[in-house]
Amino acid sequence: MPTSVVRTAKASALRLGGMTPLSLTDYPGQLSAVLFCQGCSWSCAYCHNTHLLDAGATPALDWAAAQEFLRRRKGLLDAVVFSGGEPTLQDGLADAMRRTRELGFKVGLHTAGAYPRRLGPLLPLADWVGFDVKAPFARYDELTGVPGSGAAARESLSLLLSSGVDCECRTTVHPSLFTAAGLAALSASLFALGARRHVLQIFRADGCVDAALNAAADACAELIAQAAALEPRVERRG
Ligand code: SF4
Repeated sequence: MPTSVVRTAKASALRLGGMTPLSLTDYPGQLSAVLFCQGCSWSCAYCHNTHLLDAGATPALDWAAAQEFLRRRKGLLDAVVFSGGEPTLQDGLADAMRRTRELGFKVGLHTAGAYPRRLGPLLPLADWVGFDVKAPFARYDELTGVPGSGAAARESLSLLLSSGVDCECRTTVHPSLFTAAGLAALSASLFALGARRHVLQIFRADGCVDAALNAAADACAELIAQAAALEPRVERRG
């Protein structure tokens, strides 16, 4: 995106592709609702949220309905997670995060760091960030299909780690994309940058449109176990 002004809008401008009313995993240790924001400019082959990629698609849920749902869940949920897609793409996100806090919920944010200039101002509004690390930064263009995506992600991760906001790095693992040694090296590099948690999660075939990736999905758990044996600080999920 352009280097100058980052636009903002009211939460009512948020374009939501759906919601998970209760999740035990999207914000570790918290009972959360997950709001899925539409739009992502990357094209990762293993994406299982392809229905969310079109920022201009007709929203499945509007902010007013989501907010009303959250009001009824006060005292029952700990947190609300803004996920996607790439939620930082949306001009209404900051206001939605602010209003979510005003309702009394913790705010979680899932991002792959595609827009560092947008992420920076959002960090003070987040209580926890799940940062999606696709691969070593040098391999991003290959995985996302977007030139310069690795540099953007590197800048975003640097902002996040220096912000002091609680966070974890997480990487989706697939045997056609990684070796165990490569995953262990990626993990070690993230710890060297200052990350305190790196989670390896199993590739999910549901929603993924790449038949070759889906065919090899069963080997993911074994690959994660091998990587964890090489880098014991890494955590596993899924
Ligand atoms: S960044 Fe996330 S939402 Fe966007 S294409 Fe990649 S996996 Fe899908």
